[in-house]
Amino acid sequence: MTAKLIKGTEIREEILKEIEQEVKDIKAKHGKVPGLVTILVGSNPASVSYVTLKIQTAERLGFHEIQDNQPETISEADLLALIEKYNRDESINGILVQLPLPKHIDEKKVINAIDPDKDVDGFHPVNVGRLMIGGSELKFPPCTPAGIQEMIMRAGIETKGAEVVVVGRSNIVGKPIANLMLQKGPGANSTVTIAHTATRDLASHCKRADILIVAAGVPGLVKPEWIKPGACVIDVGVNRVGEKKSEKTGKMVAILRGDVDFDAAKEIAGFITPVPGGVGPMTITMLMKNTLKSLKFKLGIA
Ligand code: NAP
Repeated sequence: MTAKLIKGTEIREEILKEIEQEVKDIKAKHGKVPGLVTILVGSNPASVSYVTLKIQTAERLGFHEIQDNQPETISEADLLALIEKYNRDESINGILVQLPLPKHIDEKKVINAIDPDKDVDGFHPVNVGRLMIGGSELKFPPCTPAGIQEMIMRAGIETKGAEVVVVGRSNIVGKPIANLMLQKGPGANSTVTIAHTATRDLASHCKRADILIVAAGVPGLVKPEWIKPGACVIDVGVNRVGEKKSEKTGKMVAILRGDVDFDAAKEIAGFITPVPGGVGPMTITMLMKNTLKSLKFKLGIA
């Protein structure tokens, strides 16, 4: 193996320790802690386990944490009223509505109802605009892209002038990470290409990438021969390709693969993220960072 592994599990611990310390300092100086509410509608098993992890992380960090579980049958009007209640709640700095929502609720309406200054997911159109403008306008970068940028920076990779190729143009990963890498500033200032299903000759774009960020959701899409020797490869894809028996619990667990052929790619790349244990652990971490940031904006110390 030639590539250096960029492990999200290790970077997560570093960042969580920093947040924990900052929370203690702010509490001592200002008597406030970040407040996060997570609204979960229904009981989708993936959402439940994700929300549980969020709660555990928030509690570990000493946040004021509210878990608001609502039945699958809640009306759109009642959910919007609930969001309005938390918009007005002074103890809450971040409002997170776990997606997906049941079909009778319009997700767009729900996202747009969150106060943009409490939208720690960074999905509200106001925050998307702030991200486009960048610089001091940027408040809450979406969590997965923010995590990707943090990993690249902490691995000490030069981004200024680098050719960054992003495969995927979703609103939650592809577009926002491309925007972050484009900004004039540290950990960015790159020349960015976004590829998608209509891109002609995907291989040729990938081959010139100094930093290749793949978020397509297609297992093994990126072939080893598409990788420039020494490049940094960030594999965002999380694809279930089968099941196996867990050695720890004996229960059946999903076999996860990324969008990159990891075993072959690691012999060519200079840096690479594994799946699992790469980008995955960064999302909740950055959610916590955004919630802390929201409190700091409110206190005028950001
Ligand atoms: P998405 O909304 O399905 O978007 C996928 C994007 O990839 C689309 O823009 C699509 O192009 C493009 N694409 C698909 N197949 C392609 C191909 N053969 N060639 C070129 N482009 C292709 O997915 P997403 O929500 O961004 O998620 C992407 C992956 O990241 C998934 O595996 C997801 O599970 C994972 N993910 C991980 C995390 C995490 O680790 N924390 C967070 C979010 C997502 P078109 O626009 O042309 O259709």
